[in-house]
Amino acid sequence: MNKLISYIFPIYNESGNIELLYQTITDLLKQNQKYNYELIFINDGSRDDSLDKLVALQHHDKRITIIDFARNFGHQIAVTAGLDQAAGDAVIIMDSDMQDPPKVSFELIKKWEEGYDVVYAQRRTRKDTAFKKLSADLYYRTLQKVADINIPRNTGDFRLIDRKVVNELKRFKEHNRFLRGMVSFVGFKQVAVQFDRDERNAGETGYPLKKMIKFAADGIFSFSTAPLKLISNVGYLIAGISFLGILYAIAIKVSGTVVPGWTFIVTSVLFIGGIQLIMLGVLGSYIGRIYTEAQDRPLYMVNTIYTSKSD
Ligand code: UDP
Ligand code: MG
Repeated sequence: MNKLISYIFPIYNESGNIELLYQTITDLLKQNQKYNYELIFINDGSRDDSLDKLVALQHHDKRITIIDFARNFGHQIAVTAGLDQAAGDAVIIMDSDMQDPPKVSFELIKKWEEGYDVVYAQRRTRKDTAFKKLSADLYYRTLQKVADINIPRNTGDFRLIDRKVVNELKRFKEHNRFLRGMVSFVGFKQVAVQFDRDERNAGETGYPLKKMIKFAADGIFSFSTAPLKLISNVGYLIAGISFLGILYAIAIKVSGTVVPGWTFIVTSVLFIGGIQLIMLGVLGSYIGRIYTEAQDRPLYMVNTIYTSKSD
């Protein structure tokens, strides 16, 4: 029997892209009959008619499975549901807005055939705003410095993952998920394929700044304890500064001058207060995560699964 390759497409308000995506993918798959394919779409609580469009396609194409979430759970969880559902010998994760060019997935498959277990698509160029490029670059540099694992720069979740790695990823039960970090964490034979990232075809981003910041924090807090170490480092620094301040105060007292007044006291009290609150916030971020993990709620709720599979 031919090997099976599963494509995973998270969908959040992608009504304007679904038909083009489907057409492009099916044309492409016709060119490589060596494999069987399944297309898994996760409807992540879309507010538009994405689900109707998917269901219409699913009626005519037995390769399609749709997981319809009960609400929006976010991109990382949608991909997780896709990994849980996928039966393929290899799984390909792609965005559904045509930013990840479908034809690149064949290059990923080629590397897989050469024996690699994870083939991640690395952006040679990307058509995004200057702000997004700059912040992404800065973020990944920081992450590389502070994380206990090596997350390759300029990669998203566009990648091919072999079955044995998928099985390992399925054992990760963490709730604030940072998949690209988890994939780096598991090891195995990994390789990059360079590609040029396109612009979003239609619709708008489902990752506004607020979600981006949460996602970025997930990356750091899930894979690094550097912020905790930062607390004591800042503490040492401030202790050092205040020691110098004490010496200064004694020196001018001895020399007979009056220690200059309350402005200094107010600013230093506010300064220390601010630092302490920020550091409490760092602790809070970890405690919040511990709380979420302790509750151990299911990762997602499924409304309906549309599939032609009998099992
Ligand atoms: N997405 C999702 N749930 C969300 C937000 C996004 O499933 O809550 C999907 C979206 O449909 C797309 C992919 O995740 O297929 C990447 O999202 P998007 O293109 O909006 O992010 P960007 O490329 O702007 O970072
Ligand atoms: Mg996009």
